Amino acid sequence: MSLEKNVQRMLLENPDPAKIGRGLIFVLLKTLLTPASFFRTKSEKRLNLVLYDYARKFFRNPERAVFTSLFAPIELVHAFNLLPFSLEIFAAVAAIMNLAPELLARAEKQWLSTDFCSFHRVYMQLATGGLLPKPAFLLATSHTCDGTFKSFFQVSDHLSSPFVFLNTPYHRDREGVRYLARQIKEAVKRIEDITGSALKSEDLEKVFHFSNEARLVFQDINDLKGSGSPLMYGEEALVFILVFGNLVGTRAGLSLFEAYRKELLSRQERGFDRIKGKKRILWLHLKPFFPSALMTYLERELGAVVVAEEINSVYWDDLNIRDPWVSLAEKLLSNYWVGGIEKRLGYIRRTIEEYHIDGVIHFSHWGCRQSNGGVRLIKDTVQEYGIPFLNLDGDCIDARNFSEAQYITRLEGFMEILG
Ligand code: SF4
Repeated sequence: MSLEKNVQRMLLENPDPAKIGRGLIFVLLKTLLTPASFFRTKSEKRLNLVLYDYARKFFRNPERAVFTSLFAPIELVHAFNLLPFSLEIFAAVAAIMNLAPELLARAEKQWLSTDFCSFHRVYMQLATGGLLPKPAFLLATSHTCDGTFKSFFQVSDHLSSPFVFLNTPYHRDREGVRYLARQIKEAVKRIEDITGSALKSEDLEKVFHFSNEARLVFQDINDLKGSGSPLMYGEEALVFILVFGNLVGTRAGLSLFEAYRKELLSRQERGFDRIKGKKRILWLHLKPFFPSALMTYLERELGAVVVAEEINSVYWDDLNIRDPWVSLAEKLLSNYWVGGIEKRLGYIRRTIEEYHIDGVIHFSHWGCRQSNGGVRLIKDTVQEYGIPFLNLDGDCIDARNFSEAQYITRLEGFMEILG
């Protein structure tokens, strides 16, 4: 039996958080040794090691573990010296490890609708199936999807762990910001009650400092790789969400981004031209996380390179320690996926213009209403620029209906239109 099958059997047949912690070693090895990784760099290896080290801490210290939703204000959790881990990221890890098909089949046996986003179905199975530690509490926001409240509530109820929920309003106006800031302040009190420790202002200040610095460095990375000659593949950049989802506000997160910036600057100075002259793509939403050659084929074989990724956009301003709750509320409400589609369209327009985009691809993940619902308006916006738009229907987590050949045909057709 292959190493992969052995690891899967170990995790699924005898679930134990300590074992899934060990299973992450396997993910690490697999990521480092993937055939598409000839471009792998020191910073990418460091990213894998930092994430692995963080996951190990999370599994070994369940009393400090906190389940979070992807855009929750994890700065608060780090300020309490706790360890936030996004449940959506766990679902992506399960897909990388090829565990998702079995977990999805189990969810279906429990009558969970296949219309429900597979990120939710998989992390609910992971958390309620004994594969993750019982956390100190759960922290989620209602953006960017309505399903989060329901699935986090189920997990919290099953594990009897407290659930701290922030209801993100639709509008980013004065009233909306105040409403959310009040909830954040109350959430802090609730976390103090749960943990029995008071939030120290110097700890929050330190976390805000790391978060603000990471924001600046990350914007530099986006500009370095997006505005001039391409310096890295988009496939590699799409994993940055793993850092933003768990490590923003920490020294480790900041130093990782600094390592990437340094590497890109050095490539720029050396006149790096290995991916020069390709068609420049803006990638919207996420990508399949299960093993697939989709993006590798697009970027290595078809003459395209993803120079900008929507998920990596820096949409928020600096956090302000003098007004922390309002400042965190502003950050959450600045997200392009909160409120009307105009914010998202504005981002798309700016990116097409600033990064000289030749074509736009939207990966329409099955069950993601908030993203896919805007596809028609996105298509119209992209076409105003006279450049092609491709809507790829698929699933980021569920590989069971994935047909690589079909996707490749569609990508080839798109590239023909791009010329
Ligand atoms: S893919 Fe869409 S529906 Fe699924 S978790 Fe993300 S935002 Fe929610």
